[in-house]
Amino acid sequence: MLENGCARTSLRFGAMRRAGAGMKAFASDRFTLPLPLGHRFPVSKYRLLRERVASEFERVHLLEPDPATDGVLALAHHPAYVRQVAEGTLEAALQKAIGFPWSEGMAERARRSVGATVGACRAAFAEGVAANLAGGTHHAFADRGEGFCVFNDAVVAARLMQAEGRVRQVAIVDLDVHQGNGTATILARDESVFTLSVHGENNFPFVKARSDLDVALPDGTGDDAYLDALDAALGELFARVQPGLVIYLAGADPHEGDRLGRLKLTMNGLAARDARVFDACAERGVPVAVAMAGGYGRNITDTVEIHLNTIRLALKLHQRFAPAGGAGPVTSPPARPSDHQLTSA
Ligand SMILES: [Zn+2]
Repeated sequence: MLENGCARTSLRFGAMRRAGAGMKAFASDRFTLPLPLGHRFPVSKYRLLRERVASEFERVHLLEPDPATDGVLALAHHPAYVRQVAEGTLEAALQKAIGFPWSEGMAERARRSVGATVGACRAAFAEGVAANLAGGTHHAFADRGEGFCVFNDAVVAARLMQAEGRVRQVAIVDLDVHQGNGTATILARDESVFTLSVHGENNFPFVKARSDLDVALPDGTGDDAYLDALDAALGELFARVQPGLVIYLAGADPHEGDRLGRLKLTMNGLAARDARVFDACAERGVPVAVAMAGGYGRNITDTVEIHLNTIRLALKLHQRFAPAGGAGPVTSPPARPSDHQLTSA
């Protein structure tokens, strides 16, 4: 579908914005993921990220997401799979492919993480940009998960935004270093959600699915080659579709210090990457919901720093646009000291 993606109105940044409101960021790390000692999934990064966001960004409004219901999850997943995850009755091999042992906590956290991307999408329509401090679980298929992904938050959220009549065409910009194989597979016959994946060609998943646009990069790709490839990919995306919403998976794992990444982007390169995506959306007036996706730094503080930089740039984007009826950029909006409180949504 090539027509303008906005179903009801031509949403522009700031059109519905309250003056001085903080950017919404949804955090689900309170719903802990019980893991055995020594498990290689860096679950602590979510708490560390939320704590740094709370202490450093007064103008980020931290919120706790609602859980995605069975009905909402069924927008992307087979009801039997949703039930098996909820009840802990997945076959052992399917549970093993996810990479987490089953627990009620695991199932609840997976629902909350989807709810966080849903919340970020809704907020992005109102304010231009919002974030999920987790999510980006792009290896989740309709009937199974793998690679630490249970439910596919981006696909569920894209389809829910469409079902709510907010948008017709969505684009998922997946810059996690691993290919978004679950996303591409679920959406293979769905032209209303464009899938772009920029990833390492020799990385997991070793059998790639087919996105609408795949950019596979060789091992050791550095900042300049990456950013050139990204520019070309974003140019092609916006030439092929006019999305009314972008869901951006800002994986930290293309970083040179990542255990699983195989690419060699620097922190500055990753910040430039984020800026490219945010600028491309801002220039076209497209709201953007950003999810953190993967990050497996040899040093976890690097991973947290990269995600924090993404939030910093998203916040800049949030502050860049005028409130309703305003004629220009907001240069010095009033501070809202209460915005850093984590409240139940
Ligand atoms: Zn990844």
